Amino acid sequence: MYIPQDYWMICDRCGGQYRKSDMGEEWTGLWVCKRGCFETRHPQDFVTGVADDVSVPNASPDVPQTMGQTTLAESYVSGDTIVHLTSSDGLAEGDAIGIVMDNGACTWSYIKELPTRSATVTFQGEVVTFGGEVVTFGGETEKYVTLGSIMLGDASSGNIVYTPSINSESWT
Ligand SMILES: [Zn+2]
Repeated sequence: MYIPQDYWMICDRCGGQYRKSDMGEEWTGLWVCKRGCFETRHPQDFVTGVADDVSVPNASPDVPQTMGQTTLAESYVSGDTIVHLTSSDGLAEGDAIGIVMDNGACTWSYIKELPTRSATVTFQGEVVTFGGEVVTFGGETEKYVTLGSIMLGDASSGNIVYTPSINSESWT
């Protein structure tokens, strides 16, 4: 039977012959019969991700950070709290300090106390006090620092000591 505008078509999927009115174009581009082959696109195909907003609303500029470094001038054992450093330049009480132990781990603590830079000495039989003056004996005195906690392991002379600071401020 001839029906104007309703010509015969072949289903792209099942191969059956159908009138144009019984056919539909799928999202795949195929012309298929509506009797059994036509499939709408699965809704999940239209799911799209929503990008996370990872921006920081109140960002501050990076704080300049330095990692100073020196070494142990003497060997120490677990439990010690006073260590002799090769250099104490720039260190202050409250600064963080990390001492590399012989097992490779690091004891992190803080500088509880730097020696007071004054001394009493005997000079030609007289007791002479340098109270409040900067006095160093071969530059060694102020290199003995007291830790805020005990050494967690043995450490040998020459082991690395980390002395980090943030913006020259101490860590307490
Ligand atoms: Zn079909």
